[in-house]
Amino acid sequence: MKFDTALLHQAAPGDAATGSTLTPIYQVSAFAHESPEKLEMVFNNKAPGFAYSRISNPTVDAFERRMAALEKGIGAVACSSGMSAVTLSLMNILQAGDEIIAGAGLFGGTIDLFGDLRAFGITTRFVKNVTAEQIEPLINDKTKVIFAELIGNPGLDVVDLESVSKLAHSRAIPLIIDSTTATPYLINPIDYGADIVVHSSSKYINGGGNSISGVIIDSGNFRWNPERYKGFEQYAKFGKFAYLAKLRNGIWRNIGCCLAPMNAFMNMVGMETMGLRMERQCQNALRLAEYLDSVDGIKVNYPALADNPYYPLVQKQFGGRGGAILTLKAGSKQRAFKLMGGLKYALNATNIGDVRTLVIHPASTIYTHSSDEQKLNAGVYDDTIRVSVGIENTEDLIEDFKQAIDNI
Ligand SMILES: *Cc1c(COP(=O)(O)O)cnc(C)c1O
Repeated sequence: MKFDTALLHQAAPGDAATGSTLTPIYQVSAFAHESPEKLEMVFNNKAPGFAYSRISNPTVDAFERRMAALEKGIGAVACSSGMSAVTLSLMNILQAGDEIIAGAGLFGGTIDLFGDLRAFGITTRFVKNVTAEQIEPLINDKTKVIFAELIGNPGLDVVDLESVSKLAHSRAIPLIIDSTTATPYLINPIDYGADIVVHSSSKYINGGGNSISGVIIDSGNFRWNPERYKGFEQYAKFGKFAYLAKLRNGIWRNIGCCLAPMNAFMNMVGMETMGLRMERQCQNALRLAEYLDSVDGIKVNYPALADNPYYPLVQKQFGGRGGAILTLKAGSKQRAFKLMGGLKYALNATNIGDVRTLVIHPASTIYTHSSDEQKLNAGVYDDTIRVSVGIENTEDLIEDFKQAIDNI
């Protein structure tokens, strides 16, 4: 199946018992069983079935199965937000004393999280660019995971997955990839060596900007040596499912950041149009980037522009498609604000992956608590505008930016 077909027909969507074309919303907390014996079996994973919606729910389960298939993983665990997915993907394997190596240009919330993890004895070492050359000198016995965003938000630097995963695996370290901004439309990171993939499905997977959620997908490829990854001893019997079994029966269920059935349903409705949306969004982003590139006094950053340093990687990994985010430098904060205030269609909002075009001034919002160094690493300057490109008509979109720029 090709991508657009898989979105509709993969992983048995719908409900075989009734013929319902979509999986219904099982808006319940608990599931009753005919006997205490049956409930005991369900509770102990000895029989299939559902017990309590914090632990599993049929609507959430359907979303997880569809995401696992879409990302070519062996299974997925849905979470209440992208941040909880990022957090739990790491907490499932880390202990006090362990170290993370991560890119310095990460999403602001993830940078803040790594600061929070210090209180639990987990240290993060940052590399300016996520390359094998910069990572290698930081690896030591305590390094337990490498974490990176495939396309940094908002720096828009692209990771060369093959070389980074090769280094990680040569040192028996797993690679976790936040692929939120790349989306399964551009790439399946598992094909290029990622061990675990996380998404903020609030963004392109949902697509309509109507539900917060996240998802963790496991490739099943990493071998968790219990001597290095404490706590995996009792999960070794699950073989390649060890990571998922540990997550599901451990920290994910106990912290309790489960996805609501309603939001899982909204995600499934949304994800079916991901191919169409992303096709238009990538095309709009490229056309808008080309237009902005031609304007005096505006500097644009978009990975699929021919003079962008990541252009060759975009060809190799993403089939030439650059994603739906671009940034521009307007010359000054004042000019940036004037431009943003003059847009008729693009909304001033802190989100990405919506069908509507959204703009934000990262320095005064998402990065308002960050140090100058953190801002620099993330490609956030005083005059930077991030544009999350929507599905509007291409000419209307360009015309909107043109009139706003003419105004300044
Ligand atoms: C939005 C985002 C997150 C956090 O997701 P939420 O659903 O807002 O919790 C994590 N990583 C990236 C790259 C994001 O864009």
